[in-house]
Amino acid sequence: MTEAELIEFIEDTFKVVGTKDISCTDINKQAYIVNKEQLKVFEHLRIQPSANGNAKEIISVRVLVSDQELKASFYGSQRTGSGRPPEIRMGREIIPYLTQNGKIIFATDGYDIFIFNLSKLAGLNMDDNAIREAIYEQINIGFLEEGIPTTRQITTTDEPTQQITTTITTFRRNNKINVYVKRKAGYKCQMPNCDYEGFDMPSGKKYIEVHHLVPLAEGGTDSLENTVAVCPTCHRKLHYATDKETLKQMIEAIGEKRFY
Ligand SMILES: [Zn+2]
Ligand SMILES: [Zn+2]
Repeated sequence: MTEAELIEFIEDTFKVVGTKDISCTDINKQAYIVNKEQLKVFEHLRIQPSANGNAKEIISVRVLVSDQELKASFYGSQRTGSGRPPEIRMGREIIPYLTQNGKIIFATDGYDIFIFNLSKLAGLNMDDNAIREAIYEQINIGFLEEGIPTTRQITTTDEPTQQITTTITTFRRNNKINVYVKRKAGYKCQMPNCDYEGFDMPSGKKYIEVHHLVPLAEGGTDSLENTVAVCPTCHRKLHYATDKETLKQMIEAIGEKRFY
């Protein structure tokens, strides 16, 4: 797997992703500077950097694939010159994880913060599927279920007066549900008596489609309960066939067995 392919896979799988090339400054200053794109990952979980220069607050980040846990500080550092916003930095166990010419990717599944230094990819010695499987195993599947709000607080700010705004994010088009449903179905059509097994795509994935039992437009949700993996032919039948109601009942009847 190339670095570009891994980035694409991570972007397909996680809700919010940000990358940055590791700079000499990051390594020399012993402080990793978080860029704007990466800050969105933290903002998504409403994790606030601690106030100016205070690196006491520690957050946990999980390394993709190895699932090693890194304890990191996350803080704003005031810059010289008036009116400039503080620089957001990370320290502690993030520092030994940095490498010259590496690239850091941060991602969240809506629950945890994940990190990966792309220069470590070659050293993994794992085939592509093993890498993908390891990442899937790290994702908090329970969190994908409809109705669980993304309000988990991983760290607290050290300013007790500071208000943390909470906006509940619901799962609209959740690509992770798609990925999870396909994977749980073994990339096979879940319609009873259909023996389609999917074909290979350049990404290494099998082609299969996801159908919503209750359409999104009619209030259906991107949840495990409302989705099935089906082949292109069965999918068209579920939408257009004269016996589509019968087919819908057939696939609904397999119920929980779809996943276990
Ligand atoms: Zn459909
Ligand atoms: Zn089928």
